[in-house]
Amino acid sequence: MKRITFLLTLLVIAIAVSAEVKYVFYFIGDGMGSNQVLGAEMYQSALMGQPLGRVQTLMTTFPYSGSASSYSKSNGITDSAAAGTCLATGSKTTNGTLGLDGEGKELTTIAEELKQKGWGIGIMTTVAIDHATPAAFYAHVPNRDEYYKVGMQLTESSFDFFGGAGFHHPQGKNDDEPENLYRLAEKKGYTVAHGYEEAIKSAQSAERLIMVQANDDQGAQHGSNLPYAIDRKEGDLTLAQIVSTAIPFLKDRYDRFFMMVEGGMIDYACHGDDAATAFGEVWDMDEAMQVAYKFYLEHPEETLIVVTADHETGGLALGNSDYTLHLDMIQHQQCSAWVLSDLFTQLFKENKKPSWEQVKQIYREQLGFWDTVEISAKEEQKLKEYYKAACNKKGKDTKTMYKTINSLGEAGIALLNEKAHIGWTTRAHSAHAVPIFSIGPNAELFSGWHDNTEIAPTILKAVQ
Ligand SMILES: [Zn+2]
Repeated sequence: MKRITFLLTLLVIAIAVSAEVKYVFYFIGDGMGSNQVLGAEMYQSALMGQPLGRVQTLMTTFPYSGSASSYSKSNGITDSAAAGTCLATGSKTTNGTLGLDGEGKELTTIAEELKQKGWGIGIMTTVAIDHATPAAFYAHVPNRDEYYKVGMQLTESSFDFFGGAGFHHPQGKNDDEPENLYRLAEKKGYTVAHGYEEAIKSAQSAERLIMVQANDDQGAQHGSNLPYAIDRKEGDLTLAQIVSTAIPFLKDRYDRFFMMVEGGMIDYACHGDDAATAFGEVWDMDEAMQVAYKFYLEHPEETLIVVTADHETGGLALGNSDYTLHLDMIQHQQCSAWVLSDLFTQLFKENKKPSWEQVKQIYREQLGFWDTVEISAKEEQKLKEYYKAACNKKGKDTKTMYKTINSLGEAGIALLNEKAHIGWTTRAHSAHAVPIFSIGPNAELFSGWHDNTEIAPTILKAVQ
Protein backbone atom coordinates (compact mmCIF):
# COMPACT_ATOMS: atom_id res chain seq x y z
CA MET A 1 0.00 0.00 0.00
CA LYS A 2 2.82 2.34 0.98
CA ARG A 3 4.54 1.55 -2.30
CA ILE A 4 1.40 2.39 -4.32
CA THR A 5 0.99 5.67 -2.42
CA PHE A 6 4.63 6.47 -3.11
CA LEU A 7 4.25 5.73 -6.83
CA LEU A 8 1.07 7.81 -7.00
CA THR A 9 2.87 10.71 -5.30
CA LEU A 10 5.68 10.46 -7.84
CA LEU A 11 3.11 10.49 -10.65
CA VAL A 12 1.40 13.61 -9.26
CA ILE A 13 4.77 15.39 -8.95
CA ALA A 14 5.68 14.36 -12.51
CA ILE A 15 2.39 15.75 -13.85
CA ALA A 16 2.86 18.99 -11.90
CA VAL A 17 6.38 19.48 -13.24
CA SER A 18 5.46 18.54 -16.80
CA ALA A 19 2.78 21.25 -16.96
CA GLU A 20 4.24 23.38 -19.69
CA VAL A 21 2.40 26.52 -20.60
CA LYS A 22 2.80 27.29 -24.29
CA TYR A 23 -0.17 29.55 -24.88
CA VAL A 24 -1.21 32.47 -22.67
CA PHE A 25 -4.38 34.54 -22.98
CA TYR A 26 -4.33 37.62 -20.75
CA PHE A 27 -7.78 39.24 -20.75
CA ILE A 28 -8.13 42.73 -19.27
CA GLY A 29 -11.60 44.20 -18.80
CA ASP A 30 -10.95 47.93 -18.67
CA GLY A 31 -12.97 49.36 -15.79
CA MET A 32 -14.39 45.90 -14.97
CA GLY A 33 -14.91 45.67 -11.23
CA SER A 34 -16.64 42.69 -9.61
CA ASN A 35 -20.00 44.48 -9.79
CA GLN A 36 -19.68 44.97 -13.54
CA VAL A 37 -19.36 41.18 -13.85
CA LEU A 38 -22.01 40.27 -11.27
CA GLY A 39 -24.39 42.95 -12.61
CA ALA A 40 -24.00 41.61 -16.16
CA GLU A 41 -24.77 38.09 -14.90
CA MET A 42 -27.81 39.09 -12.82
CA TYR A 43 -29.10 41.30 -15.62
CA GLN A 44 -28.90 38.39 -18.07
CA SER A 45 -30.84 36.24 -15.63
CA ALA A 46 -33.46 38.96 -15.15
CA LEU A 47 -33.83 39.13 -18.94
CA MET A 48 -34.69 35.44 -18.90
CA GLY A 49 -37.40 35.98 -16.29
CA GLN A 50 -35.28 34.97 -13.27
CA PRO A 51 -34.47 38.20 -11.44
CA LEU A 52 -33.23 36.24 -8.40
CA GLY A 53 -30.43 34.44 -10.17
CA ARG A 54 -27.44 34.83 -12.42
CA VAL A 55 -26.40 33.51 -15.78
CA GLN A 56 -22.70 32.90 -15.39
CA THR A 57 -20.17 34.47 -17.69
CA LEU A 58 -17.44 32.08 -18.78
CA MET A 59 -14.87 33.77 -16.52
CA THR A 60 -16.78 33.09 -13.29
CA THR A 61 -16.90 29.37 -14.14
CA PHE A 62 -13.08 29.19 -14.13
CA PRO A 63 -11.71 27.09 -11.24
CA TYR A 64 -9.57 29.79 -9.63
CA SER A 65 -10.42 33.37 -8.69
CA GLY A 66 -9.11 36.18 -6.62
CA SER A 67 -8.96 39.94 -6.30
CA ALA A 68 -6.41 42.67 -6.76
CA SER A 69 -5.83 46.20 -5.55
CA SER A 70 -5.08 48.77 -8.24
CA TYR A 71 -3.77 52.02 -6.68
CA SER A 72 -0.87 53.60 -8.56
CA LYS A 73 2.49 55.02 -7.52
CA SER A 74 1.06 58.55 -7.48
CA ASN A 75 -2.67 58.17 -6.81
CA GLY A 76 -5.09 56.23 -4.62
CA ILE A 77 -7.11 55.86 -7.80
CA THR A 78 -5.17 54.77 -10.84
CA ASP A 79 -5.63 55.76 -14.47
CA SER A 80 -5.43 53.20 -17.30
CA ALA A 81 -1.82 54.04 -18.20
CA ALA A 82 -0.40 53.38 -14.73
CA ALA A 83 -2.65 50.35 -14.22
CA GLY A 84 -1.81 48.94 -17.66
CA THR A 85 1.89 49.45 -17.03
CA CYS A 86 1.58 47.54 -13.77
CA LEU A 87 -0.39 44.69 -15.34
CA ALA A 88 2.22 44.54 -18.12
CA THR A 89 5.40 44.88 -16.02
CA GLY A 90 4.60 44.24 -12.35
CA SER A 91 5.80 47.74 -11.41
CA LYS A 92 3.60 50.58 -10.25
CA THR A 93 4.08 53.95 -11.88
CA THR A 94 2.57 57.44 -11.82
CA ASN A 95 -0.80 58.17 -13.43
CA GLY A 96 -0.46 59.00 -17.13
CA THR A 97 2.84 57.13 -17.56
CA LEU A 98 3.32 54.21 -19.94
CA GLY A 99 6.14 51.68 -19.60
CA LEU A 100 8.35 53.88 -17.39
CA ASP A 101 8.69 53.72 -13.61
CA GLY A 102 7.62 57.32 -12.96
CA GLU A 103 11.22 58.47 -12.60
CA GLY A 104 12.14 57.93 -16.24
CA LYS A 105 13.49 54.40 -16.00
CA GLU A 106 12.26 52.10 -18.73
CA LEU A 107 10.41 48.98 -17.62
CA THR A 108 10.32 45.71 -19.54
CA THR A 109 6.87 44.30 -20.27
CA ILE A 110 6.07 40.59 -20.14
CA ALA A 111 5.17 40.78 -23.85
CA GLU A 112 8.65 42.16 -24.63
CA GLU A 113 10.31 39.54 -22.44
CA LEU A 114 8.41 36.67 -24.03
CA LYS A 115 9.09 38.09 -27.52
CA GLN A 116 12.81 37.98 -26.73
CA LYS A 117 12.36 34.34 -25.77
CA GLY A 118 10.86 33.59 -29.18
CA TRP A 119 7.16 33.70 -28.39
CA GLY A 120 4.58 35.06 -30.86
CA ILE A 121 2.87 38.16 -29.47
CA GLY A 122 -0.63 39.51 -30.11
CA ILE A 123 -2.12 42.67 -28.63
CA MET A 124 -5.82 43.33 -29.21
CA THR A 125 -8.59 45.57 -27.96
CA THR A 126 -11.99 47.10 -28.73
CA VAL A 127 -10.48 50.60 -28.59
CA ALA A 128 -7.52 52.20 -30.39
CA ILE A 129 -4.44 49.98 -30.64
CA ASP A 130 -2.38 52.87 -29.23
CA HIS A 131 -4.74 53.49 -26.27
CA ALA A 132 -3.38 53.15 -22.73
CA THR A 133 -3.95 49.45 -22.00
CA PRO A 134 -2.62 47.94 -25.25
CA ALA A 135 0.15 50.59 -25.34
CA ALA A 136 1.28 49.54 -21.85
CA PHE A 137 2.57 46.30 -23.38
CA TYR A 138 4.86 47.89 -26.00
CA ALA A 139 5.26 51.66 -25.40
CA HIS A 140 7.51 53.68 -23.09
CA VAL A 141 6.44 57.33 -22.86
CA PRO A 142 5.98 59.72 -19.92
CA ASN A 143 2.58 60.87 -21.22
CA ARG A 144 -0.09 58.49 -22.57
CA ASP A 145 -1.55 61.27 -24.73
CA GLU A 146 1.52 61.26 -27.00
CA TYR A 147 -0.44 59.08 -29.39
CA TYR A 148 1.79 59.51 -32.42
CA LYS A 149 4.90 58.57 -30.44
CA VAL A 150 3.09 55.58 -28.96
CA GLY A 151 2.02 54.57 -32.48
CA MET A 152 5.62 54.85 -33.70
CA GLN A 153 6.72 52.56 -30.89
CA LEU A 154 4.02 50.09 -31.92
CA THR A 155 5.53 49.89 -35.40
CA GLU A 156 8.96 49.32 -33.84
CA SER A 157 7.79 46.68 -31.35
CA SER A 158 8.20 43.74 -33.75
CA PHE A 159 5.13 42.18 -32.11
CA ASP A 160 3.29 39.94 -34.53
CA PHE A 161 -0.36 40.88 -34.35
CA PHE A 162 -2.32 43.98 -33.40
CA GLY A 163 -6.11 44.21 -33.56
CA GLY A 164 -8.57 46.95 -32.63
CA ALA A 165 -10.12 50.17 -33.82
CA GLY A 166 -6.94 51.69 -35.31
CA PHE A 167 -4.54 54.49 -34.49
CA HIS A 168 -5.83 57.58 -32.66
CA HIS A 169 -3.85 60.08 -34.71
CA PRO A 170 -2.39 58.18 -37.67
CA GLN A 171 -1.31 61.41 -39.32
CA GLY A 172 0.30 63.03 -36.29
CA LYS A 173 -0.35 66.57 -35.15
CA ASN A 174 3.06 68.23 -35.37
CA ASP A 175 5.52 68.97 -38.17
CA ASP A 176 7.96 66.40 -36.86
CA GLU A 177 5.30 63.69 -37.23
CA PRO A 178 5.03 63.63 -41.00
CA GLU A 179 4.44 60.04 -41.91
CA ASN A 180 1.10 58.25 -41.69
CA LEU A 181 1.46 55.52 -39.06
CA TYR A 182 -0.20 52.90 -41.27
CA ARG A 183 2.38 53.53 -44.02
CA LEU A 184 5.15 53.50 -41.43
CA ALA A 185 3.88 50.16 -40.13
CA GLU A 186 3.88 48.76 -43.67
CA LYS A 187 7.53 49.75 -44.04
CA LYS A 188 8.26 47.78 -40.87
CA GLY A 189 6.77 44.63 -42.36
CA TYR A 190 3.16 44.89 -41.16
CA THR A 191 0.21 44.22 -43.41
CA VAL A 192 -2.74 46.47 -42.56
CA ALA A 193 -6.08 44.68 -42.96
CA HIS A 194 -9.45 46.42 -42.78
CA GLY A 195 -12.33 44.39 -41.39
CA TYR A 196 -12.73 40.67 -40.72
CA GLU A 197 -12.80 39.30 -44.29
CA GLU A 198 -9.74 41.22 -45.39
CA ALA A 199 -7.86 40.13 -42.26
CA ILE A 200 -8.65 36.45 -42.86
CA LYS A 201 -7.24 36.75 -46.40
CA SER A 202 -4.17 38.76 -45.34
CA ALA A 203 -3.45 36.42 -42.43
CA GLN A 204 -2.36 33.66 -44.80
CA SER A 205 0.63 35.48 -46.23
CA ALA A 206 1.33 38.42 -43.91
CA GLU A 207 4.51 38.42 -41.89
CA ARG A 208 2.96 40.67 -39.25
CA LEU A 209 -0.63 41.87 -39.13
CA ILE A 210 -2.50 44.98 -38.00
CA MET A 211 -6.24 44.28 -38.06
CA VAL A 212 -8.49 47.34 -37.81
CA GLN A 213 -12.06 48.20 -38.66
CA ALA A 214 -13.00 48.90 -42.26
CA ASN A 215 -11.69 52.13 -43.83
CA ASP A 216 -9.74 53.01 -40.76
CA ASP A 217 -7.24 55.23 -42.55
CA GLN A 218 -9.92 57.93 -42.33
CA GLY A 219 -8.33 59.21 -39.15
CA ALA A 220 -8.67 60.07 -35.54
CA GLN A 221 -12.35 59.74 -34.72
CA HIS A 222 -12.79 56.53 -36.64
CA GLY A 223 -9.70 54.96 -35.09
CA SER A 224 -10.79 55.52 -31.52
CA ASN A 225 -13.06 52.59 -30.82
CA LEU A 226 -15.18 49.79 -32.24
CA PRO A 227 -18.94 50.37 -31.83
CA TYR A 228 -20.45 49.31 -28.50
CA ALA A 229 -22.09 45.88 -28.65
CA ILE A 230 -25.48 47.53 -27.95
CA ASP A 231 -25.01 49.79 -31.05
CA ARG A 232 -23.43 47.19 -33.32
CA LYS A 233 -24.58 46.91 -36.91
CA GLU A 234 -24.12 43.99 -39.26
CA GLY A 235 -20.59 43.87 -40.57
CA ASP A 236 -19.01 45.77 -37.65
CA LEU A 237 -15.76 44.24 -36.45
CA THR A 238 -15.93 42.45 -33.08
CA LEU A 239 -13.35 41.46 -30.46
CA ALA A 240 -14.31 37.79 -30.90
CA GLN A 241 -13.47 38.06 -34.62
CA ILE A 242 -10.12 39.64 -33.79
CA VAL A 243 -9.24 36.86 -31.32
CA SER A 244 -10.33 34.15 -33.75
CA THR A 245 -8.07 35.67 -36.43
CA ALA A 246 -5.12 36.07 -34.06
CA ILE A 247 -5.10 32.48 -32.72
CA PRO A 248 -4.31 30.65 -35.99
CA PHE A 249 -2.08 33.55 -37.10
CA LEU A 250 0.17 33.08 -34.07
CA LYS A 251 -0.20 29.29 -33.78
CA ASP A 252 0.91 28.71 -37.38
CA ARG A 253 4.05 30.76 -36.91
CA TYR A 254 5.17 29.99 -33.35
CA ASP A 255 5.45 27.14 -30.85
CA ARG A 256 4.33 29.49 -28.10
CA PHE A 257 2.25 32.62 -28.03
CA PHE A 258 1.05 35.33 -25.65
CA MET A 259 -2.09 37.35 -26.30
CA MET A 260 -3.35 40.39 -24.40
CA VAL A 261 -7.04 40.93 -25.11
CA GLU A 262 -8.68 44.08 -23.77
CA GLY A 263 -12.41 44.72 -23.39
CA GLY A 264 -11.73 48.46 -23.53
CA MET A 265 -15.25 49.79 -23.88
CA ILE A 266 -16.52 48.55 -20.50
CA ASP A 267 -14.61 51.52 -19.11
CA TYR A 268 -16.02 53.94 -21.71
CA ALA A 269 -19.60 52.95 -20.82
CA CYS A 270 -18.92 53.23 -17.09
CA HIS A 271 -17.44 56.72 -17.55
CA GLY A 272 -20.94 57.58 -18.80
CA ASP A 273 -22.63 55.78 -15.86
CA ASP A 274 -24.47 53.66 -18.44
CA ALA A 275 -25.17 50.17 -17.04
CA ALA A 276 -26.97 48.59 -20.00
CA THR A 277 -24.09 49.45 -22.31
CA ALA A 278 -21.46 48.37 -19.77
CA PHE A 279 -23.12 44.98 -19.16
CA GLY A 280 -23.30 44.50 -22.94
CA GLU A 281 -19.55 45.07 -23.12
CA VAL A 282 -18.87 42.53 -20.35
CA TRP A 283 -20.84 39.93 -22.32
CA ASP A 284 -19.05 40.99 -25.48
CA MET A 285 -15.66 40.33 -23.87
CA ASP A 286 -17.08 37.02 -22.68
CA GLU A 287 -17.74 36.10 -26.32
CA ALA A 288 -14.11 36.80 -27.18
CA MET A 289 -13.15 34.67 -24.18
CA GLN A 290 -15.28 31.80 -25.52
CA VAL A 291 -13.01 31.76 -28.58
CA ALA A 292 -9.93 31.46 -26.35
CA TYR A 293 -11.69 28.84 -24.20
CA LYS A 294 -12.41 26.71 -27.27
CA PHE A 295 -8.67 26.77 -27.96
CA TYR A 296 -8.01 25.91 -24.31
CA LEU A 297 -10.28 22.85 -24.60
CA GLU A 298 -8.17 21.67 -27.55
CA HIS A 299 -4.89 22.30 -25.65
CA PRO A 300 -5.82 22.05 -21.95
CA GLU A 301 -2.36 20.97 -20.76
CA GLU A 302 -0.62 23.91 -22.42
CA THR A 303 -3.05 26.84 -22.29
CA LEU A 304 -3.34 29.35 -19.46
CA ILE A 305 -6.14 31.93 -19.43
CA VAL A 306 -5.93 34.79 -16.91
CA VAL A 307 -8.68 37.41 -16.69
CA THR A 308 -8.50 40.61 -14.66
CA ALA A 309 -9.19 44.35 -14.83
CA ASP A 310 -6.97 47.41 -14.63
CA HIS A 311 -9.35 49.22 -12.22
CA GLU A 312 -13.04 49.72 -11.60
CA THR A 313 -14.87 52.61 -13.29
CA GLY A 314 -17.93 54.51 -12.08
CA GLY A 315 -18.16 53.14 -8.54
CA LEU A 316 -20.98 50.90 -9.75
CA ALA A 317 -23.39 49.88 -7.00
CA LEU A 318 -26.03 47.20 -7.30
CA GLY A 319 -28.58 48.87 -5.06
CA ASN A 320 -29.46 52.51 -4.49
CA SER A 321 -32.28 52.65 -1.97
CA ASP A 322 -33.92 49.60 -0.41
CA TYR A 323 -33.68 45.81 -0.67
CA THR A 324 -34.85 45.51 -4.26
CA LEU A 325 -33.14 45.40 -7.65
CA HIS A 326 -34.94 45.99 -10.96
CA LEU A 327 -32.17 45.21 -13.42
CA ASP A 328 -34.73 44.10 -16.01
CA MET A 329 -35.65 47.79 -16.43
CA ILE A 330 -32.55 48.49 -18.48
CA GLN A 331 -33.53 45.97 -21.15
CA HIS A 332 -35.70 48.72 -22.63
CA GLN A 333 -32.59 50.72 -23.51
CA GLN A 334 -31.99 50.32 -27.26
CA CYS A 335 -28.72 52.22 -27.69
CA SER A 336 -25.75 53.53 -25.72
CA ALA A 337 -25.77 56.88 -23.91
CA TRP A 338 -23.46 58.08 -26.71
CA VAL A 339 -25.94 57.32 -29.50
CA LEU A 340 -28.83 58.67 -27.43
CA SER A 341 -26.86 61.85 -26.84
CA ASP A 342 -26.25 62.20 -30.60
CA LEU A 343 -29.97 61.77 -31.31
CA PHE A 344 -30.82 64.71 -29.02
CA THR A 345 -27.97 66.83 -30.34
CA GLN A 346 -29.18 66.15 -33.88
CA LEU A 347 -32.79 67.00 -32.96
CA PHE A 348 -31.73 70.37 -31.58
CA LYS A 349 -29.56 71.00 -34.62
CA GLU A 350 -32.41 70.35 -37.04
CA ASN A 351 -35.05 72.22 -34.99
CA LYS A 352 -34.13 75.22 -32.94
CA LYS A 353 -36.93 74.50 -30.50
CA PRO A 354 -38.27 71.00 -30.98
CA SER A 355 -41.53 70.18 -29.26
CA TRP A 356 -41.68 68.26 -25.98
CA GLU A 357 -43.50 65.53 -27.93
CA GLN A 358 -40.50 65.14 -30.25
CA VAL A 359 -38.20 64.77 -27.25
CA LYS A 360 -40.60 62.32 -25.64
CA GLN A 361 -40.63 60.29 -28.83
CA ILE A 362 -36.87 59.71 -28.59
CA TYR A 363 -37.20 58.67 -24.93
CA ARG A 364 -40.04 56.35 -25.91
CA GLU A 365 -38.16 54.69 -28.75
CA GLN A 366 -34.74 54.43 -27.13
CA LEU A 367 -35.50 53.92 -23.42
CA GLY A 368 -39.09 52.64 -23.44
CA PHE A 369 -40.29 55.53 -21.26
CA TRP A 370 -44.08 55.76 -20.81
CA ASP A 371 -44.70 52.67 -23.01
CA THR A 372 -42.90 49.95 -21.04
CA VAL A 373 -41.12 51.93 -18.32
CA GLU A 374 -43.57 53.77 -16.10
CA ILE A 375 -42.73 57.45 -15.71
CA SER A 376 -44.38 59.38 -12.88
CA ALA A 377 -45.61 62.96 -13.29
CA LYS A 378 -42.76 64.10 -11.04
CA GLU A 379 -40.17 62.28 -13.16
CA GLU A 380 -41.66 63.71 -16.35
CA GLN A 381 -41.51 67.17 -14.84
CA LYS A 382 -37.81 66.70 -14.10
CA LEU A 383 -37.08 65.59 -17.67
CA LYS A 384 -39.10 68.53 -18.96
CA GLU A 385 -36.85 70.91 -17.05
CA TYR A 386 -33.84 69.56 -18.95
CA TYR A 387 -35.84 70.06 -22.15
CA LYS A 388 -36.68 73.67 -21.28
CA ALA A 389 -33.05 74.40 -20.42
CA ALA A 390 -31.96 72.88 -23.75
CA CYS A 391 -34.52 75.04 -25.62
CA ASN A 392 -33.10 78.12 -23.89
CA LYS A 393 -29.55 77.00 -24.70
CA LYS A 394 -28.90 76.50 -21.00
CA GLY A 395 -28.62 72.70 -21.15
CA LYS A 396 -25.48 71.62 -19.30
CA ASP A 397 -23.88 68.83 -21.30
CA THR A 398 -21.59 66.55 -19.33
CA LYS A 399 -18.02 66.09 -20.45
CA THR A 400 -17.13 62.47 -19.74
CA MET A 401 -13.69 60.98 -20.33
CA TYR A 402 -14.40 60.06 -23.97
CA LYS A 403 -17.50 61.99 -25.02
CA THR A 404 -19.60 65.00 -24.15
CA ILE A 405 -23.08 63.72 -23.32
CA ASN A 406 -26.12 65.84 -24.15
CA SER A 407 -28.00 66.78 -20.97
CA LEU A 408 -31.26 65.19 -22.18
CA GLY A 409 -29.46 61.96 -23.01
CA GLU A 410 -27.75 61.94 -19.66
CA ALA A 411 -30.96 62.65 -17.76
CA GLY A 412 -32.70 59.74 -19.50
CA ILE A 413 -29.91 57.23 -18.83
CA ALA A 414 -29.58 58.41 -15.21
CA LEU A 415 -33.34 58.02 -14.63
CA LEU A 416 -33.38 54.52 -16.13
CA ASN A 417 -30.39 53.45 -13.99
CA GLU A 418 -32.07 54.91 -10.91
CA LYS A 419 -35.28 53.02 -11.63
CA ALA A 420 -33.26 49.80 -12.02
CA HIS A 421 -31.79 50.60 -8.54
CA ILE A 422 -28.30 50.88 -9.99
CA GLY A 423 -26.07 53.47 -8.34
CA TRP A 424 -22.92 55.26 -9.53
CA THR A 425 -20.59 57.17 -7.23
CA THR A 426 -18.37 58.79 -9.86
CA ARG A 427 -17.80 59.45 -13.55
CA ALA A 428 -14.14 58.57 -13.04
CA HIS A 429 -12.37 55.44 -11.78
CA SER A 430 -12.52 54.01 -8.27
CA ALA A 431 -10.05 52.10 -6.09
CA HIS A 432 -12.40 49.12 -5.76
CA ALA A 433 -10.74 45.71 -5.83
CA VAL A 434 -10.81 44.09 -9.25
CA PRO A 435 -11.46 40.40 -9.89
CA ILE A 436 -9.02 37.78 -11.18
CA PHE A 437 -10.15 34.53 -12.83
CA SER A 438 -7.88 31.79 -14.19
CA ILE A 439 -7.86 28.36 -15.78
CA GLY A 440 -5.17 26.07 -17.12
CA PRO A 441 -1.80 24.81 -15.85
CA ASN A 442 -0.51 26.86 -12.90
CA ALA A 443 -3.80 28.80 -12.80
CA GLU A 444 -3.95 28.23 -9.03
CA LEU A 445 -1.09 30.75 -8.61
CA PHE A 446 -3.59 33.55 -9.30
CA SER A 447 -6.12 32.68 -6.59
CA GLY A 448 -6.46 34.79 -3.45
CA TRP A 449 -5.93 38.49 -2.76
CA HIS A 450 -3.14 40.20 -4.67
CA ASP A 451 -1.76 43.59 -5.43
CA ASN A 452 -1.73 44.36 -9.16
CA THR A 453 2.09 44.25 -9.06
CA GLU A 454 1.91 40.47 -8.59
CA ILE A 455 -0.02 39.48 -11.71
CA ALA A 456 2.59 39.98 -14.47
CA PRO A 457 5.42 38.25 -12.52
CA THR A 458 3.03 35.39 -11.75
CA ILE A 459 2.33 34.93 -15.48
CA LEU A 460 6.09 34.72 -16.10
CA LYS A 461 6.43 32.23 -13.24
CA ALA A 462 3.56 30.19 -14.66
CA VAL A 463 5.22 29.81 -18.07
CA GLN A 464 8.70 28.89 -16.81
ZN1 LIG B 1 -8.62 51.59 -17.64
